[in-house]
This record gives sequence, C-alpha cells and structure tokens, in this order.
Amino acid sequence: MKVTFLGTGNAIGIPSPFCRCKVCEYARTHKDKNVRTRSSIIINDDLIIDIGPDIFHQCIRNNINLTGLKAALLTHTHSDHFAYPECFGKEISMSDGINVLNIYMSEAANDNAIDAIEKASLNSYITKKGVDSIEFNVLKPNKVNRIGEYNVIPFFSSHYVKGDEFAFNYIVAREGQTILYGTDTGSYNDETLKLLKNYSFDVIIYDCNNGIDGEYSKNHSNFYEFNQLIHQLLKYDAIKSTTRLIGTHIAHNSQMIHIELENMLKQTFHHKFEVAYDGMIIDENVNCN
Ligand SMILES: [Zn+2]
Ligand SMILES: [Zn+2]
Ligand SMILES: [Zn+2]
Repeated sequence: MKVTFLGTGNAIGIPSPFCRCKVCEYARTHKDKNVRTRSSIIINDDLIIDIGPDIFHQCIRNNINLTGLKAALLTHTHSDHFAYPECFGKEISMSDGINVLNIYMSEAANDNAIDAIEKASLNSYITKKGVDSIEFNVLKPNKVNRIGEYNVIPFFSSHYVKGDEFAFNYIVAREGQTILYGTDTGSYNDETLKLLKNYSFDVIIYDCNNGIDGEYSKNHSNFYEFNQLIHQLLKYDAIKSTTRLIGTHIAHNSQMIHIELENMLKQTFHHKFEVAYDGMIIDENVNCN
C-alpha cells in the first residue's frame, strides 16, 4: 500500500498564525518539512483517513485530487480531523468521478457530526441521496469491516471528543500488508494491545503530538509512549524488522524543529523511528520520497 501524508500537525498546525515560538518562527522562514498542516493520510489514492481544514491546500501541494476516493475513514469529529464544510464542494462539483462519498466513523462520532452540521445549517447536503451525495456510515469497533478492497478494523483510543465520543484508531489491511493509524490517542490499554497482537504490522503511524516531551496525557502521546508500544508489540511478534515506525500529529510543544527531533530520536531510542512530514510518501517498493 502507498501512504501519502497529507498533514502531520496537530489542531493548530505549524507555524501557528498566533505563535512566535522557536518552532513556528523557524517553520515560517525555512518551510519544507517544518510546516505541518492538520493530520490526514491517503492510502493508494482511494482511501482517506480524516478530512481536515487543510484538505484544499494539501491536494494542490501533493498534486492530487479526491475524485478517485472510494471511502473516507474518520478518527473523530474534532474540527482538525473532520472539517465538514470542506466536503461539500463535492456537492457542486461539475465532474467528480464518484457518485457517493461514503464516510465511516463511530456511532458517537456520527451523532456529533450530524449535530454539528445541523447547527451550521448545512444538513441539506448530508441528507441528499444519490449522485454527488455524501453518506455517513457507522462502524462497530473491534470488528473487521470490508470497505472496497480493504479490511478495516476500528478500535477506540483514549482521546476524548464530546458526549460519548472517543476517537477511533484504525488497522487497515490489503493484499497481505497491514497498517496501523494511531492518532489521536494516549497510550493504549490492555484491551487494545490484545487486539493489536493478532496482527503483523508493516507500518505503524502513531500519535507523537508531544515530541519527546515526557509528559503523559490521555489525549495524545509522545515518542516515549511510541517506544513503549513497540516493546509491547515485539513480545507478540506484531512487529517485524522491516516495520516502518512513523510518528505524526506533531505539535510545536516539543520545541524542536524537524531535524532536531530526528537527531534526538537517533540518540534516544534503539528503534528506528521516523518523523512524518507533510507530503511524505511511503511505499513498499519505494522508500521514503
Ligand atoms: Zn488531532
Ligand atoms: Zn509555536
Ligand atoms: Zn482530537
């Protein structure tokens, strides 16, 4: 599977328009890997995870469009992961190549999404069926869901949203390859580890919001927690020597620019962690672009 990182930042991105910290100032001047838009990935150009407020810019930057999308998976309804007004351009597109955009999420996320759309007086878009419509679909956690050519297994993370909603993280498998997309979350609980041990991951993409800041939170993780997860999964052979370990959803909180974070990881951890950046593409046959 090919994975394109459309965005690798947290809710405010880097550089935040409201911040003059060292990380934001450096990103303003040097751009490249230092600029982080809101987190999202696209797999094989037909399955997207999260549609955030930067999707317009991300598609232009990566020279892609979303007309080939077969489905969208939502981690949760915080507005950095689901910017619903960005989807509605599809309703008035002249030629979109797909009839219905199916968006998959948890039951509580579905309730919160409908609620938010109604409050924004945009509900006519979501209820319209047929050509050019968008449909919401509810996924049950810890079950294998067949979505097109993919097996998708959602599970709850510890990231709290609103009402009954906690974020979904996803296992996505196709043609013998398996990816874990683990953002937003704090450290996984035992029930989740029990689920994950049944898989052999080719790629693990994990929430490293806090860089190498040692502070622990239920809503986000850091590279220490990523390292701890890898040790836990190694016990079950859920990790191979070739598994790519990639941190994403990185905030300015770490107070490290991209290259400093990469260097610090090399010095601190035994495992070879990679720091995702906007526009990064990974493929089984092609290494990092
Ligand atoms: Zn987030
Ligand atoms: Zn900043
Ligand atoms: Zn969130």
